[in-house]
Amino acid sequence: MVVGDVTTGTEVLIIGAGPGGYVAAIRAGQLDLDVTLVEKEAYGGTCLNHGCIPSKALISATDVAHEASAAEEMGIHADPAVDLAGMVSWKDDVVDQLTGGVEKLCKANGVNLVEGRAEFAGENTVRVAHDGEGQGSETIEFEHAIVATGSRPVEIPNFEFDGEHVISSREALALDAVPESLVVVGAGYIGMELSTVFAKLGADVTVVEMLDSVLPAYEEDVARVVKSRAEELGIDFHFGEGASEWEESGDGITVKTENDEGEVSEFGAEKALVAVGREPVTDTLDLDAVGLDPSNGGFLETDDRARTDIESIFAVGDVAGEPMLAHKGMKEGEVAAEVIAGEPSALDYQTVPAAVFTDPEIGTVGMTESEAEEAGFSPVVGEMPMQASGRALTLGETDGFVRVVADDDAGFVLGAQIVAPEASEMIAEFGLAIEMGATLEDIAATIHTHPTLGETVKEAVENAHGRAIHTLNR
Ligand SMILES: Cc1cc2nc3c(=O)[nH]c(=O)nc-3n(C[C@H](O)[C@H](O)[C@H](O)COP(=O)(O)OP(=O)(O)OC[C@H]3O[C@@H](n4cnc5c(N)ncnc54)[C@H](O)[C@@H]3O)c2cc1C
Repeated sequence: MVVGDVTTGTEVLIIGAGPGGYVAAIRAGQLDLDVTLVEKEAYGGTCLNHGCIPSKALISATDVAHEASAAEEMGIHADPAVDLAGMVSWKDDVVDQLTGGVEKLCKANGVNLVEGRAEFAGENTVRVAHDGEGQGSETIEFEHAIVATGSRPVEIPNFEFDGEHVISSREALALDAVPESLVVVGAGYIGMELSTVFAKLGADVTVVEMLDSVLPAYEEDVARVVKSRAEELGIDFHFGEGASEWEESGDGITVKTENDEGEVSEFGAEKALVAVGREPVTDTLDLDAVGLDPSNGGFLETDDRARTDIESIFAVGDVAGEPMLAHKGMKEGEVAAEVIAGEPSALDYQTVPAAVFTDPEIGTVGMTESEAEEAGFSPVVGEMPMQASGRALTLGETDGFVRVVADDDAGFVLGAQIVAPEASEMIAEFGLAIEMGATLEDIAATIHTHPTLGETVKEAVENAHGRAIHTLNR
């Protein structure tokens, strides 16, 4: 035994206090389980500290300034001065409120909080190392463990994150001055959200993407709306090019890219933000000690109860696979806790929504038209362009559309794609419809408040039946 080591025991041991882990801990506490949550860094994980919340805070603050400066048409003449350090400090306050709230909620639900880095030491044991000299370590024996250690940004060859010239989203969300110019490597959702922020703050933004368009996870016409708007904001896109190396030059750097034909291009910038994806954090846990092999790219395979191959060990959140989204991890955390408590819970991934907080936003849930066809449905599709929405006009934001996909025979809603202001909020109505087995008729029969963006949901649904009032039917 290590000097200073103590051994304790718990029914449920959770490693990682991000959305997967803290939700599992609170739910387990509610179910009267004896639960211990180990976190090495900060309550709330990536989501609250370096991901969802800080990025959305900066997006909102940037939009306040950008909308004011771009509202001449509405008779507003303003030239707001942006102090990024002040904006980041406000964002940090928002983060602190939420992370403090997570800690309080855990304690109020009887969760035993342990600060330190956990790794497995045996079939039913973890060793937790406490940072700092003389802090020692402790051994915790558990009946069940939930792995919720999340993910980290992927590094590409020759672009190790140095926090100064080459940064990840984490550093990008904590800059104290707007870079004059920025090369963003990767046009996935994180790259697009942050490119939009920095372009609105006045940086010259160049996006380099190996594939041939932005947001490859979304349908082409959905991604096109976001790309056009990004181009209007001045973002310069280069597709079919991979970042190969960089060097310091003058006050900044030169990023070199290469296309399939081996042609090299060079882009000068103050910094490069690499946002090419995220990878699960499972390599620091000594999973061998417990007999787990995260062979699938580091992800842990789980069943519909969030259980790994080892019956007593569960995995939730980003480590349990795509989609790496906070709300997916929260649901898995809830289910894992309930299964451990003996409840008949199970996961159903039919209605995991996804949102991209670009300008305009994207919100999707369920199946696209082609996915519905592949699944054997004969889909009917309805659409409503935002240009025809009174509320969108009053907001001065008319790019995009709402699309619903339903089964033509039974009318059940199968999926929806929205690219519009507040798409991240509007998509919830379709999620509920799918979850409840609602039909197009159910949504059409629901009186929606006027004038709201939500009315476009009803109009899209009515368009599927050829009876929309405020748009021409297809
Ligand atoms: C810029 C950005 C924007 C994002 N925006 C969104 C969004 O708008 N919506 C959305 O749904 N998702 C978003 N995400 C993704 C979201 O942040 C993740 O899906 C979510 O945080 C995953 O939750 P998790 O609990 O699995 O892991 P994490 O949140 O990564 O938490 C894991 C925790 O485990 C701890 N840990 C790791 N190893 C150990 C160990 N050995 N011992 C103890 N503790 C350990 C870590 O310190 C961390 O706190 C975004 C991500 C980024 C980077």
